[in-house]
Amino acid sequence: MLNIVLFGPPGAGKGTQSDKLISKYDLQHISTGDLFRKHLGEGTDLGKLAQKFMDEGNLVPDEVVIGMVDEKIKAHPNVKGFIFDGFPRTVKQAEALDELMNKKNTPITIMLALEVPDEELKKRLVSRGATSGRADDQDINKIENRIQVYKSETIPVADYYKQQNKFVGVNGVGAINEIFEALSKEIDAKA
Ligand code: AMP
Repeated sequence: MLNIVLFGPPGAGKGTQSDKLISKYDLQHISTGDLFRKHLGEGTDLGKLAQKFMDEGNLVPDEVVIGMVDEKIKAHPNVKGFIFDGFPRTVKQAEALDELMNKKNTPITIMLALEVPDEELKKRLVSRGATSGRADDQDINKIENRIQVYKSETIPVADYYKQQNKFVGVNGVGAINEIFEALSKEIDAKA
């Protein structure tokens, strides 16, 4: 199995690159942001719980995220692999993911980290806000908070995978296809 953690700050291009990697490697996509937005749209209890965190650009509590991912993994027992997008975002989530995958005997293969400077991220998120309809893309204060939360709570997750020799950084600025080629090269080298 090929299990990829696609890592990077908000606006790094994780969603765009996930779509391309899924088609190329035939993987099951697990995007926690997309799953929360689906719950929000359907007005479920989980959606209502997540909304107040999402609207401010803060992280939804670990237990809630981990439970949702566990369910999603179990719903796809026969896939060729998973691509985790926007998850794990805390070390506690990374530890929980290892536990879930080790139980299946299919550990994480690689963490690919898209590297993009802050100013470029802000530019991309403001421009996405014009069409995405996402509340958290509309307001520069919320955008800056999300980047701040990434730095304080999520960056340590990169160290967690560095310790396992699974971390690979990739330049996330440039043409979409060039970035995709760079990611594919790293996957092929590791798989
Ligand atoms: P995203 O689409 O990945 O930018 O996620 C949008 C929002 O959903 C985040 O700002 C968080 O409020 C919430 N969220 C998504 N994934 C996670 C996660 N792994 N842990 C905690 N909160 C998350």
